Amino acid sequence: PGRLAGKTALVTAAAQGIGRATAERFAAEGAMVWATDVNLAGLSGIAGCETAQLDVRDGASIAEALERTGPLDILFNCAGTVPGGTILDCSPDDWALAHDLNLASMYRIVRATLPAMIARGGGSILNMSSVASSIKGVPNRFAYGVTKAGVIGLTKAVAADFVGHGIRCNAICPGTIETPSLHERLRATGDYDAALAAFVARQPMARLGLASEVAALALYLASPEAAFTTGQIHVIDGGWTN
Ligand code: NAD
Repeated sequence: PGRLAGKTALVTAAAQGIGRATAERFAAEGAMVWATDVNLAGLSGIAGCETAQLDVRDGASIAEALERTGPLDILFNCAGTVPGGTILDCSPDDWALAHDLNLASMYRIVRATLPAMIARGGGSILNMSSVASSIKGVPNRFAYGVTKAGVIGLTKAVAADFVGHGIRCNAICPGTIETPSLHERLRATGDYDAALAAFVARQPMARLGLASEVAALALYLASPEAAFTTGQIHVIDGGWTN
């Protein structure tokens, strides 16, 4: 049997990148996986998963999806956006969007899923943060770093409050990972090659991370093998913040 046999999991932002790789890995390990995304068409072809549309910014959309999935053992809150710029570039609308998509989304989904998880005797919640958070100040990642630091706070608070109910809640903090949106950010700089070279240059391993490498960490944290780990920050960054 797989490492997640008998478990029901939900992954947000599963149409591409880390969410997709993780949903497929969870399924390969025997979980019943609900791969969800605001972009339903983007979920087509995802291996071994049930799919559902879920917009993490919309409470009604979350409730509708959860009606289909039923109670969860594993929740991976992967959805997030990467706004660029400093505090001076960050308009009130940018600020509000970053908070809504990166942080309030997790408040909404955890509130909606936790009671059934508790009733089931426990579960594992994974929240996608970043090393650009309370771990490290990264240039031009103002609203991103603020909201990803908030994710760490949310993770620790939930872990502390529900440890007695068998709930584990952990944060995953990647460095730079090769995903479709990373390539978009590199293109948006106007000089793709120079931007890529700069990202690689700050990596001691001289390469970017892979979505499959983050999926392997998520699998461990989701599984019963990680039964003694909760409320922690799990950095996966090729030695960047070492
Ligand atoms: P991505 O940015 O390539 O894809 C994001 C996905 O989120 C898309 O499929 C998109 O449709 C979906 N999405 C957008 N708005 C949504 C909404 N309202 N509801 C549901 N889904 C929505 O994916 P990625 O680069 O793998 O990033 C995934 C997560 O990992 C994000 O939280 C990101 O901040 C975090 N992260 C990424 C990196 C990196 O270098 N790629 C590093 C650290 C952390």
